[in-house]
Amino acid sequence: MRRKLAAGNWKMNGTAASLAELEALKALMPENAPDVLICPPAPLLFRANEAARATGIQIGAQDCHAQNSGAFTGDISAAMIADTGASHVIVGHSERREAYEEHDSDVRKKAKAAWAAGLTAVICIGESADNHSANNTLDIIAGQLAGSLPDGMTATNTVIAYEPIWAIGTGKVPTLEQIVEVHDFIRGKIISRFGAEIGDMIPLLYGGSVKPDNAAMIFKAENVDGALVGGASLKAADFAPIISALA
Ligand code: PEP
Repeated sequence: MRRKLAAGNWKMNGTAASLAELEALKALMPENAPDVLICPPAPLLFRANEAARATGIQIGAQDCHAQNSGAFTGDISAAMIADTGASHVIVGHSERREAYEEHDSDVRKKAKAAWAAGLTAVICIGESADNHSANNTLDIIAGQLAGSLPDGMTATNTVIAYEPIWAIGTGKVPTLEQIVEVHDFIRGKIISRFGAEIGDMIPLLYGGSVKPDNAAMIFKAENVDGALVGGASLKAADFAPIISALA
């Protein structure tokens, strides 16, 4: 049985007061809840870990540098993230690929840095609106998988999140058929490169405008093992029904 994961990416939202949402979320979560991960902004990581300790909710960061330390003003390393007690780090989110021109090779290095620090890397991939319209989705995904996933990937050191860029923050969601097609394709590619033991077990998340009212539809896809959720993870009242739909 693959583990299911509901992951929330708070992006650049929230202050210390927002951490009250963790306890509120725990109170609303079903008893058979899947794994739940919240990725708050970096300044909240230490406090988020303290606040989450009694809840079982895991805490992750939204990005890391590929180096362990050094003259990289403003950056944080995977080792620093691990030092806060966090367990995961998102790498290759499309907002970073676009705004900071991060390429597959950068994502690959960051994922390796995450593993070296003992973190699970949540590696994001996804096609642009233009590539989607041009029916290039599977080619783009194949390229990103080949370039972003390092050798040495296992079903426990990595989670893969398929996030079509045109669906992030837009309210647009692919059809169930499209989600099934891409997730089946991703799993097939991973099995052929890393073998069935890893490919069958690695969690694949869908991300892009997941909301309480569409989560059940999305989770019907056999190769969707959870979600990476932006906007709807900020409030416990929105995220809890998504978690329940996955349970
Ligand atoms: C995201 O940022 O990873 C995301 C999926 O955002 P949203 O759920 O708001 O579309």
